[in-house]
Amino acid sequence: MSEPSTPRFVPLIDQRPAALQVPEAAFDPASAMQARGLVADARGRELRDMRISVTDRCNFRCSYCMPKEIFDKDYPYLPHASLLSFEEITRIARTFVAHGVQKIRLTGGEPLLRKNIEILIEQLAALRTPDGHPLDLTLTTNGSLLARKARALKDAGLQRVTVSLDGLDDAVFRSMNDVDFPVAEVLDGIQAAAEAGLGPIKINMVVKRGTNDHEIIRMARHFKGTGVVLRFIEYMDVGATNGWRMNDVLPSAEVIALLQREFSLVALEASAPGETAQRWGYADSLGNHDRTAGEIGVISSVTQAFCGDCNRARLSTEGRLYLCLFASQGYDLRTLLRNGSDDATLASAVGHIWSGRTDRYSEMRGAQAADTGSGARRVEMSYIGG
Ligand code: SAM
Ligand code: SF4
Ligand code: SF4
Repeated sequence: MSEPSTPRFVPLIDQRPAALQVPEAAFDPASAMQARGLVADARGRELRDMRISVTDRCNFRCSYCMPKEIFDKDYPYLPHASLLSFEEITRIARTFVAHGVQKIRLTGGEPLLRKNIEILIEQLAALRTPDGHPLDLTLTTNGSLLARKARALKDAGLQRVTVSLDGLDDAVFRSMNDVDFPVAEVLDGIQAAAEAGLGPIKINMVVKRGTNDHEIIRMARHFKGTGVVLRFIEYMDVGATNGWRMNDVLPSAEVIALLQREFSLVALEASAPGETAQRWGYADSLGNHDRTAGEIGVISSVTQAFCGDCNRARLSTEGRLYLCLFASQGYDLRTLLRNGSDDATLASAVGHIWSGRTDRYSEMRGAQAADTGSGARRVEMSYIGG
């Protein structure tokens, strides 16, 4: 594994800078906004997708996300009282759904570490869009607890899971999770999720050049024809602790070129607006998509920005609303929940925050961050979720 040559110094005080305050206009009756099932930001992007981080803790120490030397026993994780309760999360989610959110993804940290997560899933599964449809409710997990929990998650109303898996070789996997966790247990978890009906299952593989790129073909062979959708993710410069360098990124174009040496692939249309992955299907002998063989995806957050239709809002474990994965500050919604604000005020706050949104970090990355891994004030992926 190639590592940065300079030692990492990360002032912990910078990890969670002060929250942004909700714009005053949200509280003024003259400019209050109601939830009308559709709200667009300053660049015309509609709010459709919400990611909720339910814990900032994790039992893995993936070097690209929670490097051991930073996330050690002295790391200042959020105290329990800071966490939103399930009722608070559901209340915020209900407001977002009223503004047009159709899809909710639970994430973390490792979301299955949050005690009684099934209860939250039940509450979210009961929400309905303004036109009466259930939400697309999903969860991203490292899979370590999935074999034990898959059935209960399904019974609570979870529809699908995405499992992160960076390789099939046990030694590679143990070294990437950095807690010596065996790959066989994650594969058991994936199997249990499939048996519980939590599909179509997606697998996220973060590709780090020189670390696990030799696992790409093996992963594709393993999941081809199983109904599982494997997605290759470019290693991103999220947070400030992973020592990111452009040299460690294997561009998606190279991933596809590598796969095309072994498989015949055909480009597929995006299945939903704002979809992060570019889809490729395995082709049959006539060059058409062979649905029984399935598809793969590439998520090119570094080499091909997809900010133009980014419809995702992110809620941190302590109730801050982030408008971009690379934001340095989030809006404090928890104070509104805890100071007795009514639903109309909460809806106005969310409406005003989203309609003022201009974020497009990935589009501007080239100019801002170059390949230095700069951006020391950005929040960590484990805090805000993927
Ligand atoms: N612990 C869960 C998991 O690993 O699936 C959920 C949280 S994790 C932060 C969400 C996703 O972010 C995972 O698929 C992970 O691989 C991805 N991720 C974390 N750090 C990343 C990075 N630096 N670049 C690209 N993806 C990253
Ligand atoms: Fe934990 Fe997921 Fe981050 Fe890995 S990617 S350290 S499993 S939160
Ligand atoms: Fe969305 Fe920010 Fe990612 Fe652009 S960089 S796609 S705005 S989360």
